[in-house]
Amino acid sequence: MRGIVTKSTGSWYQVKDDNGNSYECRIKGKFRTHGIKTTNPIAVGDIVDFELEPGQDSGVITQLEPRRNYIIRRSVNLSKQTQIIGANLDQAILVVTLASPPTSTGFIDRFLVTAEAYSIPAILVFNKLDLFSDEGLEILAEYMDLYENLGYSCYAVSALKGEHIEELRQLLKDKTTLVSGHSGVGKSTLINAIVPGLELKTGIISEWSDKGKHTTTFAEMIDLPFGGQLIDTPGIRELGIVDIEPQELSHYYPEMRKLLNQCKFHNCRHINEPGCAVLAGLESGEIEPSRYESYISIYNNENNRN
Ligand code: GDP
Ligand code: ZN
Repeated sequence: MRGIVTKSTGSWYQVKDDNGNSYECRIKGKFRTHGIKTTNPIAVGDIVDFELEPGQDSGVITQLEPRRNYIIRRSVNLSKQTQIIGANLDQAILVVTLASPPTSTGFIDRFLVTAEAYSIPAILVFNKLDLFSDEGLEILAEYMDLYENLGYSCYAVSALKGEHIEELRQLLKDKTTLVSGHSGVGKSTLINAIVPGLELKTGIISEWSDKGKHTTTFAEMIDLPFGGQLIDTPGIRELGIVDIEPQELSHYYPEMRKLLNQCKFHNCRHINEPGCAVLAGLESGEIEPSRYESYISIYNNENNRN
């Protein structure tokens, strides 16, 4: 039997077959994970083969189909371990907010780099619009301009007040969309607003309180009544950029990518090389300082890890 993984708890997985029937499945023995080492060999969105246990409606996953793409994060407590938070995606939304708790541009950029690396269209949803003063709205517009100019769709919404939610429904219709964000940005409130009657728990459930415990993966696929699926993921503290070589990194910055063939050296790191087109772009204002900063930060981080 074949199905799609709709829920992952770490110890068992919910798998839905083509007829919409769901089965609780476990993994037994070893199977091919296609070369990716993660704490969770199976993730929500994965297509798997499974066998039902005789006389029961639970099963055993026997094979994993190769993934079209996926998004990965570092484990909360074990930085060397990584988890796949969703696979086979059409697009990925990062819910952010400039209000409480503010999302850093460094975090946004890490998410965008990960999405670029797998050619997953990334969308930023700026939540808590209702909290902004006129001055705040101007800052919000600057952020949205920055990312829209790079080619990323941006939406400003209020999950709490239900503002601009219909636009998001149009965006999600008939697609498989991963939704992630820091705890507290309003992701659950937002999903509840998008899917009336869903009633996910809201209020800050701190992932910090899980420190010391082992993995708390709990991603879940939610069917949208108007067509398509959402993959709701637990609040993310740190996104892992795991299988990107530092020298590839600038390829995943669209504004740098188009300058790369103008650098004097083909192996330019864009740090202090003479004739670097990226550094010239930074100087001329073509490249945003916050973007360059995140590039350097990721570059150094990944280099230290190797
Ligand atoms: P999650 O951790 O990202 O799932 O965040 P929750 O949905 O649990 O929301 C965290 C807090 O932010 C709750 O107190 C929500 O009521 C609040 N919140 C969510 N969306 C909005 C919004 O659009 N405006 C305002 N003012 N508060 C919001
Ligand atoms: Zn360069």
